[in-house]
Amino acid sequence: MHKTLVSIVLLGAVLAPSGACNVKRAIMLGAVESQVDFFRHEHSGGGLTRISERVYTFAHASDRGIVVLTDVGLVVSDSFNADYATRLREALTLEGVDAPVHTLIYSHHHLDHVGGAAELAPQVVIAHANVSRYWDDAPDVGLVMPTRVFVGDHAFEIGGVRFELLDVAAAHAPTLYALRIPDEGILYAPDTLVPNAFLFGFTPDVPVDGFLSAIDKLSSASFDRFVASHLGEGSRADFDRTVAMLRDVRATAQAIFAEADLRDGNIHYDPARAKDGFAKFYDALRPRYGDWHGFDANILPTFIRLYTSELLGDVSPTPRTAQRDALLPSVRGAIDPLAVASAARAIDSGAGGGGGGCGGGGG
Ligand SMILES: [Zn+2]
Repeated sequence: MHKTLVSIVLLGAVLAPSGACNVKRAIMLGAVESQVDFFRHEHSGGGLTRISERVYTFAHASDRGIVVLTDVGLVVSDSFNADYATRLREALTLEGVDAPVHTLIYSHHHLDHVGGAAELAPQVVIAHANVSRYWDDAPDVGLVMPTRVFVGDHAFEIGGVRFELLDVAAAHAPTLYALRIPDEGILYAPDTLVPNAFLFGFTPDVPVDGFLSAIDKLSSASFDRFVASHLGEGSRADFDRTVAMLRDVRATAQAIFAEADLRDGNIHYDPARAKDGFAKFYDALRPRYGDWHGFDANILPTFIRLYTSELLGDVSPTPRTAQRDALLPSVRGAIDPLAVASAARAIDSGAGGGGGGCGGGGG
């Protein structure tokens, strides 16, 4: 057979079953690939890294947590999954850190953060009071039930190290805490932002203003290094640069939507107006952030998220709060009833966002 004909026949054999000659399908597969690429571990830098005197960060695949050396053992947040937890123990052993895990802190209830806890055999498990509400139908991912729970902001001390839990539920999940270790200058704030990555929040189902108000709360905290729970970590300057990007992206979108006058007809009814809006958004932001990790993967989802939020009016500054969720049906499992009673009193007295947790340290 002629060489060219052979090539055509072979090409047809490759393309036909996959449907790759369908251009729309190929474009969508490319979009899927870029989403997957965004979370590839090559972008996070794996392994165990010491980032202050008492604090390590450990990354495996796209997950990243922290380990704190205290006088009574290790404090770990999060456990993610059994594979992560096992590799964390191995990495610590190689590093010569053989202390037991004294306390595991669940940053929030999401299963991709709390799996593998049993591998770490923690003596104490700290979490928001409502985490177990979400686990009634959860698959067996190696959960350990919390033994100390809080609502609202809370400070405590374990083995000579001070910790602060900052309620940032508005950013991502109703049970979300950021963890600050003031004496080490570390802030671990899962599923909020990734330093130097183009990503407008991890979930589209929280109001944009609530998300940004939680980011402002993180900004007002004092810290030198910021650790994200997926992909990277970075300096305070990296964090500030990323927050400025988020604000700029939001302001750019709002200016475009104001010009498009959403009240005068939704632009998603009109392909020309919708494409014009996205083109303006893309063209404005690409010169500024086109070289950021995740720009190509996330520019369209970000546009859609900001558009729908604006359209629905879902930009209210009234964020999800732990207090609102504390009004929901009670928690299940091994919890500290004092914390829930205290939370209920705080709500009854209109005390709002502060305190309300059970007292004392875990040491
Ligand atoms: Zn999450």
